Amino acid sequence: MGTVRMTPRDTPCIFCAMVAGTLPCHAVYEDEHLLAFLDHRPVNPGHVLVVPKRHESDFHRLASTLYGALMQLAHRLGKCLAHLYQPPKVGLFGIGFHVSHVHVHVVPLYAMADMTAEAFERAQRTSPAAAVLVASAAQIRQALAVMAEDDPPA
Ligand SMILES: [Zn+2]
Repeated sequence: MGTVRMTPRDTPCIFCAMVAGTLPCHAVYEDEHLLAFLDHRPVNPGHVLVVPKRHESDFHRLASTLYGALMQLAHRLGKCLAHLYQPPKVGLFGIGFHVSHVHVHVVPLYAMADMTAEAFERAQRTSPAAAVLVASAAQIRQALAVMAEDDPPA
């Protein structure tokens, strides 16, 4: 009598599907190890997620070099979002209860309340038009392309 044990590797992972290209996403950056794309249920416009391409459940399980690359990309994206959206703050955080694949949120923030569980639940019920996401992704891709890694903070 077997109990089926599900590990994160066995369950369908939407971020792995995006990395594989079987689930579409609004990508803003991709390299050998990392993918960044717009959250399709953004807390605010410009809400980006950065993920390692290889499935891992927790940031502290990543190799430190990969973790460093992930955070460096989040840093660059933060500069782009600050430049494009001019919010009072750009937030950076990892939570991970919804999808068990390491992801860092980089989000234009306008108030402390943007970072609450309620704000995230409200975002889950909204769905921006695809055209808006397409336009935002194009803007962010362009800002990243013209921004050198060592540019001073915006
Ligand atoms: Zn995954």
